[in-house]
Amino acid sequence: MRGIGRGFMSRAEFLVFGSPRIEEDDIQAVNEVLRSGWLGTGPRVKQFEADFRGYTGARYAMALNSCTAGLHLSMVVLGLKPGDEVITSPLTFCATANSIIHAGGRPVFVDINKDTLNIDPDKIEAAITPRTRAILPVHFAGRPCEMDKIMAIAKKHRLKVVEDCAHAIEAEYHGQKAGTFGDMGCFSFYVTKNVATGEGGMVITDNEEYADKIKMYGLHGMSRDAWKRFSDEGFKHYQVIFPGFKYNMMDIQAALGVSQLKKVEKFYRRRLEIWHKYNTHLAKLPLNIPAPFAPQTKHALHLYTVTLDTRQITRDKLLDALIQEKIGAGVHYTALHLHPYYRETFGHRRGDFPAAEYTADRILSLPLSAKLTEQDVDDVVSALEKTLG
Ligand SMILES: *Cc1c(COP(=O)(O)O)cnc(C)c1O
Repeated sequence: MRGIGRGFMSRAEFLVFGSPRIEEDDIQAVNEVLRSGWLGTGPRVKQFEADFRGYTGARYAMALNSCTAGLHLSMVVLGLKPGDEVITSPLTFCATANSIIHAGGRPVFVDINKDTLNIDPDKIEAAITPRTRAILPVHFAGRPCEMDKIMAIAKKHRLKVVEDCAHAIEAEYHGQKAGTFGDMGCFSFYVTKNVATGEGGMVITDNEEYADKIKMYGLHGMSRDAWKRFSDEGFKHYQVIFPGFKYNMMDIQAALGVSQLKKVEKFYRRRLEIWHKYNTHLAKLPLNIPAPFAPQTKHALHLYTVTLDTRQITRDKLLDALIQEKIGAGVHYTALHLHPYYRETFGHRRGDFPAAEYTADRILSLPLSAKLTEQDVDDVVSALEKTLG
């Protein structure tokens, strides 16, 4: 028999990291779109936007084909000028910083707090210059950033705030939803994210001007409601107001989004069980488990990350050993400023952000999908015990 504490035999099947939980009603919802004949942006996108407004309490929600698109458009509508600086975390996905660059700005990294793995708010002010226009905090793994401190700094220095909520759909800070603190919040529905549409994203805001521009710039810069130009409401000519982008979401994606969003709290509760089980069993191993949840916050439980606390094995060797045991794990992330482009363009070197580098060298994400069975979770624990025990 397999299981915790017993002689562990590898699983038969590879456990794919981040595989989403897709159920019969999700499949049904997509089938209905396919049969409807309207695959592009249409009524399901409208529904998903309305549902997302309802879920977050934001006044406006604009569905797009990715969070990357949302981050890019957010930076565009802030009107960055060449050389304008945007402060962000070096422990994030490359899309966060790339979006700043695509809008003509320059990413300025500020080191993380080693416990929360979020941008260290106490280090932000030292990085502010006359060129600083915005702060782009990332709610890493789903743990909300210290938004009271970040918003106070932004107010004092008259900076805009755009929240990268790719990990943070369910996250709340002092009773308020992540994504509603700043000027805009950007969410991801990529395959591995807490709500999955395959590819997809959403920007929320309370600012009507930003909302209108994002909607328009996300569809070629065509005048409002251009997506209706082939509908039964009568042919509509559109006008191009800005050289925009092709970032609209399709109804196929939105149908999945509507169906998945209904189950967001159910999936969350399942991930919370897995989270506690990992905490219980992994605390004995030479690794650091995630910091406890801060009071009055809701962690969105997107990634369960551990940082290795041993010289006995490197993170990359541990990843290989887990793959041998048929467990797919992830790395979120290698330090962004040390990738060739950022080194060469901005002159970054090892030593610039010690906490991010320390973490990035040792961090590993364990499977945390709501799809996991008890046996899957036991197998992850056993594989770690076998390798590290
Ligand atoms: C996934 C992710 C993104 C990009 O999301 P897409 O929807 O894939 O474009 C941006 N930032 C972070 C932190 C992410 O994890």
